[in-house]
Amino acid sequence: MGFHAFVDDAREIKEDNPFESMMSRFDHAAQLLKLDPDLYKVLRVPNREITTYIPVYMDDGHIEVFTGFRVQHNFARGPAKGGIRYAPDVTLDEVRALAAWMTWKCAVVNIPFGGAKGGIICDPSQMSLGELERMTRRYTAELIDFIGPERDVPAPDMNTNEQTMAWIMDTYSMHARHTVTAVVTGKPIDLSGSRGRREATGRGLLFVADEAVAKFGLKKSDTRVVIQGSGNVGGTAARLMHETGYRVIALSDIHGGIYNPRGLDIPDVIAHLEKHRSLEKYPGGEPVSNHELLEIECDVLLPAATENQITSQNVDRIRCRILCEGANGPTTAAADDVLERKGVFVIPDILANAGGVTCSYFEWVQDRMGYFWKEDVVNERLQDIMVASFHDVCKYAECHNVNMRIAAYMLAIDRVAYITRTRGIYA
Ligand code: GLU
Repeated sequence: MGFHAFVDDAREIKEDNPFESMMSRFDHAAQLLKLDPDLYKVLRVPNREITTYIPVYMDDGHIEVFTGFRVQHNFARGPAKGGIRYAPDVTLDEVRALAAWMTWKCAVVNIPFGGAKGGIICDPSQMSLGELERMTRRYTAELIDFIGPERDVPAPDMNTNEQTMAWIMDTYSMHARHTVTAVVTGKPIDLSGSRGRREATGRGLLFVADEAVAKFGLKKSDTRVVIQGSGNVGGTAARLMHETGYRVIALSDIHGGIYNPRGLDIPDVIAHLEKHRSLEKYPGGEPVSNHELLEIECDVLLPAATENQITSQNVDRIRCRILCEGANGPTTAAADDVLERKGVFVIPDILANAGGVTCSYFEWVQDRMGYFWKEDVVNERLQDIMVASFHDVCKYAECHNVNMRIAAYMLAIDRVAYITRTRGIYA
């Protein structure tokens, strides 16, 4: 299949390789769409992959060389778009998968972007602010010819934030000799960021969960929600779901989680987390491991941490009605069939967590207009797009008699394929 021909053939294809998870869904959807074999060849590979080695003066004066990637998967619908993550275990295959997911995600919510993703292999928890700044600026300088408001627009992802985006914007602007705000999104509000961007991924999850819960005729106050991850995505989703009347019964951070079947007092939990930097010893719930948390019986399970959390190893023990994917790639392809057999309603990552990039689109539009919207306007437009996209995917799933994940891929691939065919291949 496609994936096998793309990577080094001698390599073993592992379930936990995110590129394999992306590619097997892509192949399945392409087959059902009867995608033209020539277009299949074009869409199954990224447009460009950049690997760059980044020398950085560390605080003690020695030089460390970091490896950074930027994969630009597709430009058919507009500039490439996607975050940059900093983590010790970043791999090129992971960044490849994440870049492709951005292409499909932007197409599912029908915003005029292609897909890209960046990553640097580093351990940000062991680096000072100065080291992070120098690494970010040198990485940006290496990418200077490849990014830009019309080319590729980075954004935050795991372990990067508004400050990181401010450094990228400044470095790019210094080279351009004028301020170019639209080169990145997820900037601080005072530096031409968008109101609502910080919460947008969590808010988008709330909007699609609301639609799914209504579809099942569940009452919010009876809806038990389990959330894995309490960072920008999980933490915001927990807060907003609690505020709107859901019963959030479990929440975790990287060390482990807490569980209270009667419902957690989320503002209190978040205050504890901010004070102690950990959920450990939180008095209002019993401790659970991250694995146990995923297996708690609930109505909505919302993984918002990282890839490969629901796999062939634990999918049998998952007990939720709705799986709302906040992270990118939290479920491996090998677990899809079992979820379907169990009747779990999946709101796939490329739909569920698209609120972040949708608000990034708003930020890019506002930067280019130089005119900034009120938060209510941002949130209302976000809701319009998330709700419409949820129903587009539901309708597609019903019409083609496929599950929600495959429907989302089919819809996205169909949109990108249509534009690719219409633009034609430049020769
Ligand atoms: N990193 C986020 C994602 O995975 C946001 C990307 C963006 O806003 O461009 O969707």
